[in-house]
Amino acid sequence: MKPAFATKALSGWGRYPVESCHVFRPEKRSEVAATLASGLQSSYIPRGLGRSYGDAALNENAGVIWQVRLNRFLSFDSASGELECESGVSLAEIIQYFLPRGWFLPVTPGTKYVTVGGAIAADIHGKNHHRDGGFSNFVRDFRLLAPTGEVLLCSPTARPEIFWATMGGMGLTGIVLSARLRLRRVDSAYVFVDYYRAPNLEDALATMEASDERYEYSVAWIDALATGKTLGRGVLMRGNHAAAAELPARVRHALAAPPGPQWNLFVDLPSGTLNRLTVKAFNTTYYAVHRTAPHRLVSFEKFFYPLDAINQWNRMYGKRGFVQYQIVLPQASGRAGLRTILDRLARSGRASFLAVLKRFGDASNGLLSFPLRGYTLALDIPVARELAPFLHELDRMTLDHGGRIYLAKDAVLRAGDFAAMYPKLESFRALQRKLDPKGLFSSSLARRLKIVD
Ligand SMILES: Cc1cc2nc3c(=O)[nH]c(=O)nc-3n(C[C@H](O)[C@H](O)[C@H](O)COP(=O)(O)OP(=O)(O)OC[C@H]3O[C@@H](n4cnc5c(N)ncnc54)[C@H](O)[C@@H]3O)c2cc1C
Repeated sequence: MKPAFATKALSGWGRYPVESCHVFRPEKRSEVAATLASGLQSSYIPRGLGRSYGDAALNENAGVIWQVRLNRFLSFDSASGELECESGVSLAEIIQYFLPRGWFLPVTPGTKYVTVGGAIAADIHGKNHHRDGGFSNFVRDFRLLAPTGEVLLCSPTARPEIFWATMGGMGLTGIVLSARLRLRRVDSAYVFVDYYRAPNLEDALATMEASDERYEYSVAWIDALATGKTLGRGVLMRGNHAAAAELPARVRHALAAPPGPQWNLFVDLPSGTLNRLTVKAFNTTYYAVHRTAPHRLVSFEKFFYPLDAINQWNRMYGKRGFVQYQIVLPQASGRAGLRTILDRLARSGRASFLAVLKRFGDASNGLLSFPLRGYTLALDIPVARELAPFLHELDRMTLDHGGRIYLAKDAVLRAGDFAAMYPKLESFRALQRKLDPKGLFSSSLARRLKIVD
């Protein structure tokens, strides 16, 4: 029997673009292989929880293989913390089961609703990249269903070229069926956080550079509407996992922080709700409320996943959706580049509701992995008229400063600029062609950026 599929209007987390895709939902690893072999679609792309923002997990009028039902834990070594699981397991599921047993994710993004497959395909980074690097540092190996139908075990030592093409390869080398990850030990479900209010960008960067090494995690919220002397003012939030012995007596269970409040956004807010006036009011309040304060005990949910407290918070941007624009700039030119880009944004008449700044450590070997040593800035910008030309202007500034754009967030970059940003693209293309001689893997992102032929 041929595998069943349904035609659906799909989008990424930014709800832009929305495209009609033919969606398969296999339940077993064997069904994934049967789908690829079925000849039903011209091409396929895997999809996890759809938390990439743009069109990475879309394949217009072609196949999307939703991996979320492949969510079984396969084995766990309680001495080393090595977990083997199917690729549709979410980071939320890993935390739910393993945190009470004293294990946490070695790298986590700003939401726990991403799958292990999605984390590998984007070689995700967390607030600890400056110390620990990205997700790929903690993947011992994975099993890849290659476009030819073979299942390949890949690790940094077994088929390393396929391993490093798949890490950050946005699902274009095949489907990760399962992976072995190294979890990290923790003593509690809490983080001690130092808050520091930085009056401008110079101060924020200097403070991060001078003292980030003391913290496992470091991130800054930036007021992207501030200009002049206060350009780039923000709040630094830096922390370390709390040891059980350091917790105050009121904390009854070190490994089980009480869940915070949870809200639902049931309706789309009108597009335009987040405008310069509302964002300015929010930024002024946020900056005023977050005073410099050392050693605050914060639950892991509040520290790592503040946005997860509102289900479907992406509806705040209304039906037109939004683009998350995330760049990284190398250490040497980063300061000047950030100034230029923040200044251009502040003068543009547009408002970024969320603006987040982090420092990255060394790049991984991933051919299309995003991080490189320097600074990363992420901005949420509502879709409105002339957004693409504006972002292309920022792309040019990013390129001029030797930087690049994160594919997991992207929806508007152009192929020429992409090629100039990713120097290992040709190596990726050559390997992808070898792995996928019939061109079975593609996505809307891959066609827009001409990643594959
Ligand atoms: C609120 C929020 C905060 C975020 N914060 C961060 C952050 O701090 N750091 C960061 O790095 N990212 C961050 N992200 C982005 C997110 O981590 C990545 O986009 C991640 O890839 C999403 O995983 P997913 O399971 O939702 O995958 P999807 O969005 O469904 O797919 C993403 C890519 O993975 C591929 N893929 C999915 N499953 C497989 C598989 N089994 N085999 C091969 N390829 C596969 C898809 O083809 C696609 O190219 C954030 C996203 C949100 C919404």
